[in-house]
Amino acid sequence: MAKLSDPITILKGIGPTKAKQFATLNIFTLEDLICHFPRGYEDRTKIVPIEKLEVDVPACFKAMVMNTPRTSHIRKGLDITKVQVADHTARLTLTFFNQKFTADQLQYGKEYIFYGAVSGDFIGYNMTSPVFESLDSPPVTTRRVLPVYPLTAGLSNAAVVKAVAQALAICDPPREIIPEQVRQEFGILPADRAYYAIHQPASMEEAEMAKKRLIFEEFFVFSAGLSLMRAARALKKAPAYEKTDLTQFYNVLPFTLTGAQNRAIAEIAADLRRGAPMNRLVQGDVGSGKTMVAAAAAYMAIQNGHQAAMMAPTEILAEQHFASLSKLLTPLGIAVELLTGSQTVKQKRVARERIESGQAQLVVGTHALVSEATVFADLGLVITDEQHRFGVSQRAALTGKGQDPHLLVMSATPIPRTLALLLYGDLEVSILDELPPGREPVDTFLVDESYRARINAFIRKHVSEGHQCFVVCPAVEENEGLDIKAAEVWAETLKQKVFPDLRIALLHGQMKGAEKESVMGDFARGDADVLVATTVIEVGVDVPNATLMVVEDADRFGLSQLHQLRGRVGRGKAKSYCVLFSNNKNPETRQRLQALCKTTDGFQIAEEDLRLRGPGDFFGARQSGLPAFRVANLSVDLQTLKAAQQASAKWIDSSGTANTPESEALRQRIAGLFARTDGTMN
Ligand code: ADP
Ligand code: MG
Repeated sequence: MAKLSDPITILKGIGPTKAKQFATLNIFTLEDLICHFPRGYEDRTKIVPIEKLEVDVPACFKAMVMNTPRTSHIRKGLDITKVQVADHTARLTLTFFNQKFTADQLQYGKEYIFYGAVSGDFIGYNMTSPVFESLDSPPVTTRRVLPVYPLTAGLSNAAVVKAVAQALAICDPPREIIPEQVRQEFGILPADRAYYAIHQPASMEEAEMAKKRLIFEEFFVFSAGLSLMRAARALKKAPAYEKTDLTQFYNVLPFTLTGAQNRAIAEIAADLRRGAPMNRLVQGDVGSGKTMVAAAAAYMAIQNGHQAAMMAPTEILAEQHFASLSKLLTPLGIAVELLTGSQTVKQKRVARERIESGQAQLVVGTHALVSEATVFADLGLVITDEQHRFGVSQRAALTGKGQDPHLLVMSATPIPRTLALLLYGDLEVSILDELPPGREPVDTFLVDESYRARINAFIRKHVSEGHQCFVVCPAVEENEGLDIKAAEVWAETLKQKVFPDLRIALLHGQMKGAEKESVMGDFARGDADVLVATTVIEVGVDVPNATLMVVEDADRFGLSQLHQLRGRVGRGKAKSYCVLFSNNKNPETRQRLQALCKTTDGFQIAEEDLRLRGPGDFFGARQSGLPAFRVANLSVDLQTLKAAQQASAKWIDSSGTANTPESEALRQRIAGLFARTDGTMN
């Protein structure tokens, strides 16, 4: 027997060339090969009479060869072989191009099983290059459910089928990781059957069963991993905070908190008093006021003598949080520090010294916070903002800077609840389901180029009333072959031709940190009227005086992204608007964008986006911190996800240390999965 870890080159027919082709599919070992699952199947189990064959629909049929194949040499490099076949319903001419050798195997008077599609190009029946097998040969290309694999140049489906069959014949499939009890409860196939059945199903039904099992398995491993993390953390201790009185904090707030904010803060205070590390997610739509909840948490940590750190996904956001939090907390005698990658070496050094000495009490920053050089004196609370941008590993890296610090995760994007379960399966959740009072919903319009003049006038009107506008473009630079607005060029056009009298600023991700900071600062202070930007402003940017958001080529963005962008306006008292430009005429696209005009409920939009585009796009594939599921599709397999989640929670509960025969293999898989996930992040 071979081992799963053996290289695929031990298989017959796989030399260096084939191995290279497999390598481009990330297949190196027998395990990789066995876990290379089909993307679909062709049902070749049913035998159809020739008469019933449909044009362009491939099918199997049994037929007798009615003459000896005849080959004509048409020209150099082109041979055509023709042969007649028939069953009791009809006759059919088969044509093979440059396949004389193959076609000549068809013997006059013998019966074969064929698989192919009749073409409608000719009068009468004709079929080009069907595959065939004699009745007594084993069913390889006919009379079976044929898996269809993801392929790469030079590698045929048949080659993969053959390689997989060999691999399954010489080594055992991956070990069972789902306890028997769970398998029975949820009616799923055992591992050994599933791994065979996914590649060599006896029927389409069996293929479905195998797929269901493997999807379940993927979700089960991931949620079991989260359950284990949660269980491990539950055993940890943290100092129980005694001072959770917020009177002083409330006194400096420029507004009264919403009921939802107060509830979240109360939940956090209860966590902090408990003596175990807090693991809490605060989820709320754009503008629901998460920053204040974070500030209250930081205030409590600091009152109890510990440091708090807040990590934001972008420099702009970190700087903005730094500005608003220092304004709020400095009057309370709290030292707030900024640490970002784009600071000068000296600035960073000074900041780090103050962090290490404990002088800095609240540290706001970007990834720079998790770099090795950053050492905290006594980190008691870790806050990550816009969490979906960070993976599990970064969350872990920052909590590693303290001794089991409290963790508060802020999620801006209203993630569909099911996905939230998956991403945050190890967290308690507080939901901010209330916007600060006086917020009017942002009115959203979908328009095409014919509205350009009117929208320009609309921009002018907002500016003349003392407000500001965002104009978001899908790209930074002009891109050959892509007819989309580029921020740089568009900013120039607006400046020179459209609004020569207005102050136009430009902001994009390729600018240097300090430059971005100054542009953003100017705009926030009201020193520019129109900010032309890319999606760098998508997250968190808070300029309450901005009342108009114009998105160019809106069809280039995901719904959730547009919702985030729209969240940049409507943050003050004045009525705000969002204009989506799109010349795309595709009815589906327009319908998608219309959905945004109809609702401002982020959860609804997120569900819609997930349904339409899948989670990869939803998060930006690399940013999600989610493992790349091989079989599971998060937008359609939600039932299975829920089942797997229940099952894994029970597994951890009922067996505590989980001593089922499967648990060792499961632990290994979990470790492997989290290692892989971490490896793909930033
Ligand atoms: P988000 O949840 O999107 O992070 P922010 O925390 O940035 O929202 O808050 C959005 C805006 O609302 C900010 O300008 C903030 O100062 C303001 N804000 C937050 N809470 C309240 C409140 N209770 N009343 C009025 N304004 C508030
Ligand atoms: Mg925010």
